[in-house]
Amino acid sequence: MYLCIDLDAFFVSVEQALDPSLAGKPVIVGGLPQERGVVASASYEARKFGVHSGMPTSLAYRLCPRAIFLRGNFQNYRLYSSRFHEIICTYSPNVDMVSIDEAYINVAGTQRLFGPPLEIAGKMKSDIKKILNIPSSIGIARTRVFSKVACEQAKPGGTLAVPKKDEMAFLAPLGVNVLPGIGPKNAGILKNLNINTVEELIRTPDWILETALGSYYKILKFFIQGGDYKCTDTMKSISRETTLDEDTMNQDLIYALLYYLTERACSTLRKKRRLAKTLTVKTRFSDFKTVSRRSTMPAGNAQQVMFETGARILAETLKEKKRIRLIGVALSGFEYDGLRSSMFMLREERLNRLNGALDRVRGKFGFNSLFAANTTVLKKHFGNNNDGYTLHTPSLSQ
Ligand SMILES: [Mg+2]
Repeated sequence: MYLCIDLDAFFVSVEQALDPSLAGKPVIVGGLPQERGVVASASYEARKFGVHSGMPTSLAYRLCPRAIFLRGNFQNYRLYSSRFHEIICTYSPNVDMVSIDEAYINVAGTQRLFGPPLEIAGKMKSDIKKILNIPSSIGIARTRVFSKVACEQAKPGGTLAVPKKDEMAFLAPLGVNVLPGIGPKNAGILKNLNINTVEELIRTPDWILETALGSYYKILKFFIQGGDYKCTDTMKSISRETTLDEDTMNQDLIYALLYYLTERACSTLRKKRRLAKTLTVKTRFSDFKTVSRRSTMPAGNAQQVMFETGARILAETLKEKKRIRLIGVALSGFEYDGLRSSMFMLREERLNRLNGALDRVRGKFGFNSLFAANTTVLKKHFGNNNDGYTLHTPSLSQ
């Protein structure tokens, strides 16, 4: 059995927990109306006026001029998120955080300790309310997919359990948009075919669904029949390292390599939608002595920031004044990359946009379609192709 737990109007709820005078009022986090921001989170009082996340704050202001607009503070949200994670982890060793305020919890095997799933859900919610003063919703079902649908139906503040025998009765009358992968676009396509509910979708012949949704219809049917998302990854670190052809004391080369490896690791980190808190720099000297030094920083995914930390570590190591044989970086201490975290931090926002653009160009034209200025020295030392520099002994372990 899975519990899907989601904190209600998370950013707003944190603001309300920190400032109780905001409780029960229309509150919008995402920026001030004149600032060209978008709504990151709106309280249910504001949603009544048609305000929803992703909407420009200027429009939200027109819909609900008496709302209280806040810029938000992502540091606080991260803190609350990690406290939330700690609380739910006391109930099961199998917790998958899937976003900053949402998790799947496998409660198979924890029932002897904490009781049946409904009881666990009740305890968890009251812990979160007591400790964080934040409301949450919980869905309980046989698969993650169904528990998520149940959780959405339980909002705000509810708990909904769907026993196996009731799954079809539960799903049938719901709109197709509750199913994973059915966003506004696919919902529109299905609507044109007069398929509005899950029941209507189940009754539609496969060939029609295939014409409408392509091969995605197979995944959809798989989910409806009780198939599930694959377990999310158990990745503990992302590392990149290389052994040099010839041991070197050339600092330009060593720093350029550090930048390049950091850049590669961060690009993977962004692809996995993670932020890392810990950077480890590994160096091996010509005498095979190996030094691993780590540093912890605010969670992030920008190579520019990581490199600053890495360069400081490396400078420490290079004091040994010995030739370098191997250099590597490892990122660890992951957090889920919250929704538009960058909105709240200026430098991060700038870097995030830049790196997003870099990733897109490289996704299309190959990694070395763009060279970071810091790595141009590598051109003299290594061949390169679309995939990046051809390091002599690249290790792309995870
Ligand atoms: Mg939420």
